[in-house]
Amino acid sequence: MTDMPSALRPSGPVLAGLYLLAALFPLVLARMQSAAPMDRWEYAAAAMGIVALWGMAVQFVTSGRFGAISGRLGIDKIMAFHKLAALWVLLALVLHTLIYVLPTWLDDPDLGWIRLRFYLTDPAYRSGVISLGAVTVLIVTSLLLDRLPWPYEAWRGTHLLLGMIAALTGLHHASAVGRFSADGALAWFWALVALAILGVVTVLYGWRWWLLHRRPWRLKSVTKRADRMWELDIQPDPGTPRIPYHAGQFVWMTEGGRRFPLFDHPFSIADSPKREGLSLLIKEAGDFTSQIGNLPEGRIIGIDGPYGEFTLEAHGTDAVLLIGGGVGIAPILGILRDMVARGDKRPVRLAYAVGAAHNFVCLDELRAATETLDLQLWLLSEDPSDTADMIRGRLTQAHLSEMVNGLPQDTTKALICGPGPMVVAVSDMLLDVGLPMRNVIYERFDYAGGARSRQDRMRTARMLGLGAIFLAIVSGFALTM
Ligand SMILES: Cc1cc2nc3c(=O)[nH]c(=O)nc-3n(C[C@H](O)[C@H](O)[C@H](O)COP(=O)(O)OP(=O)(O)OC[C@H]3O[C@@H](n4cnc5c(N)ncnc54)[C@H](O)[C@@H]3O)c2cc1C
Repeated sequence: MTDMPSALRPSGPVLAGLYLLAALFPLVLARMQSAAPMDRWEYAAAAMGIVALWGMAVQFVTSGRFGAISGRLGIDKIMAFHKLAALWVLLALVLHTLIYVLPTWLDDPDLGWIRLRFYLTDPAYRSGVISLGAVTVLIVTSLLLDRLPWPYEAWRGTHLLLGMIAALTGLHHASAVGRFSADGALAWFWALVALAILGVVTVLYGWRWWLLHRRPWRLKSVTKRADRMWELDIQPDPGTPRIPYHAGQFVWMTEGGRRFPLFDHPFSIADSPKREGLSLLIKEAGDFTSQIGNLPEGRIIGIDGPYGEFTLEAHGTDAVLLIGGGVGIAPILGILRDMVARGDKRPVRLAYAVGAAHNFVCLDELRAATETLDLQLWLLSEDPSDTADMIRGRLTQAHLSEMVNGLPQDTTKALICGPGPMVVAVSDMLLDVGLPMRNVIYERFDYAGGARSRQDRMRTARMLGLGAIFLAIVSGFALTM
């Protein structure tokens, strides 16, 4: 959902602080609760379960669909968080069980096994075991996503279902057998969390489904722009409001009778908000995109958006480096078209890299933009290039040094979009040529992971730091009870 003005959207550190504070809240409620006396291990196990349950619930709003949460961070960071947080939740759930049996295990391993088997098989704990199983299957199927013989939509449906099973059975487990959660304020809190999860799912899949049907768009034209690459001109039907977007953002698109959020796909807007309607540049990649070129004009389209912060507005800047690889040119083209439409005076350097020269799109438009903008172009293709303004080969550090030459490094921002390995390489090379990390912004079209940039690694380190704080909080809870 995208309704919050960008100035009001919290920054990354603020969100991290809120996440920690929010996780403390159920622990504070637990402290206020009277429970049968336990040993320190049991307090730690209970606290671990509470934190895991809370972490599980928060996963529902870090799916990248809530502008208030992902608006300032961008889809790349929010997805990185979502993936890592899922691993913490699993770790916390496993520790929750193990810590309960650990003291017995240390005294008498045989008795420890008996106690563990009891927890895993006794009907009273069944909902907790189902929750743990659902989280495990959810994470394994996500890690194996590229190798599963399922359509992406089937994985998404399973992901949602498993997430709901995990959270709701986890909440049932806490209320049924939780030492602190079975009654009192914490029981009420978990009831509200269950309602909130159902509310979030209703908004994501009910309200958005309704909007996709109430506010239809229409396909005005489909134009082939390169090999297996199409540009779609999509216009709102009468009565459908324009979407107030910034150049570089993306939308979730569905078409025809399949206008249900589970079937939507993200595409960057390759357009300026100054123009009526939306242009999407789509490369054939699988089941959905392979049919794009055959869509008939007038086809009904569902648009949900805008999303993302891959925009100049989100990153105030004096000079701009735009770097696109393959279909990653889509949001870059949108930003450039908008700069032309607004008569932007800032210096802009654009590098556009493709595998084969015939796959460049909108070259005439890019070249024409050099007449109206303070724009320099680097056109790179890996095959022998056929015109004087093209460079053969990949983007190198030397090209990037040339691009930043003469620009103020502190206030020049680079926006990169392209295949994962290219984004990683370019992002790291830009740091090597002196651009500060905060000035290097990128968006990948694939959440699956793969190569990781220095910036990715730094984010992971920060998120691991957050995990360590959680561990300290749980230990503090156990030691001070
Ligand atoms: C923020 C963002 C912006 C994007 N912008 C563009 C763009 O402007 N032009 C363009 O051609 N492509 C873009 N993509 C990629 C595009 O969404 C996928 O290529 C497309 O969804 C593939 O669907 P498919 O059914 O044809 O292929 P599949 O064979 O189903 O999928 C191929 C791969 O695409 C990814 N994918 C598939 N469906 C989805 C989905 N619903 N949500 C997220 N990822 C999915 C998965 O990693 C999958 O492994 C963007 C992706 C993201 C995340």
